[in-house]
Amino acid sequence: MFYQRHTGKKLCKECFFEDVLQRVKKEVERHRMFSQNDKLLLALSGGKDSFVLLDVLVQIHSPSKMVALSIIEGIRGYNRPQDIERLRSIVRSYGIDHFVVSAKQYLGYSVDDFAEAQLKLYGKLRIPPCTYCGLARRRIMNVFAREIGASRVVTAHNLDDEAQTYIMNLLRGDPARIVQVHPQAPLLSRLFIRRVKPLRKIYEYETAAYAYLKGFRFQEVECPYLDMRPTLRARIRRFLYELEANSPGALLKLVEFLDTILEPYVKKLKLPELPRCKRCGEPTSYGRDLCKLCELIEIVENAAKQNR
Ligand code: SF4
Ligand code: ZN
Repeated sequence: MFYQRHTGKKLCKECFFEDVLQRVKKEVERHRMFSQNDKLLLALSGGKDSFVLLDVLVQIHSPSKMVALSIIEGIRGYNRPQDIERLRSIVRSYGIDHFVVSAKQYLGYSVDDFAEAQLKLYGKLRIPPCTYCGLARRRIMNVFAREIGASRVVTAHNLDDEAQTYIMNLLRGDPARIVQVHPQAPLLSRLFIRRVKPLRKIYEYETAAYAYLKGFRFQEVECPYLDMRPTLRARIRRFLYELEANSPGALLKLVEFLDTILEPYVKKLKLPELPRCKRCGEPTSYGRDLCKLCELIEIVENAAKQNR
């Protein structure tokens, strides 16, 4: 029996799986995240949410139109071959091709390289390794999707992640970023493949229960850089956790409210194409010559020059 805190319902295992499936379907349809003709690139980390994403998506989209990608960030003790192997065998059991690529192979440097370069240059980590990690993963997903002709990149972000991202961007007071969280936000570059998050209305406690009840064995090793996550996100995470514990359903209402009020605005929004980075040619923010990722890569290169 599963107790669904935010609705107060007690569900048997099968009804809980069905409930999650129907809510994901509804969210996909509401925002027209993809259609039957779309080729989906599933970004799978090997954590619990990846397994839930995979298990739900094969029930609503043809596995012959899906490809899975896992990215090795290059973090000692965290990226373990046995976790990738386990993920691979499950992905293949659904009849889906699984590719594994590394940040080092795509960008020249791993997350550990980025951390070590800062220690060499500044004697401490001025920029959290998560910043490089997030940008690197996003870049690789997008470039890989273009290379294989995928029309959507599908990530396993859940409701808790989505609420944190909305609040973080609200607190930063940056309307352009707030709008980008909305599932129907306009694409700002022809080089971007649309990213969709089918689990964005499923709580993290539900993805954990789903993975557990299905018997998935997922990666549980914590990343050594977890405590260095940007402090704003960590604080928002704690705050939202308390909020939800005191009023179950609060996060769901928050995300639904923001989706609804932003929708008419997002649909009318017309923004110019993003400029291209002078170094890598990928899109960069308005008014910037170099993209943020290239700026971070230059830190690693500067550290390497010091060795010569
Ligand atoms: Fe990457 Fe940070 Fe997550 Fe570690 S904690 S995997 S560095 S985003
Ligand atoms: Zn660049």
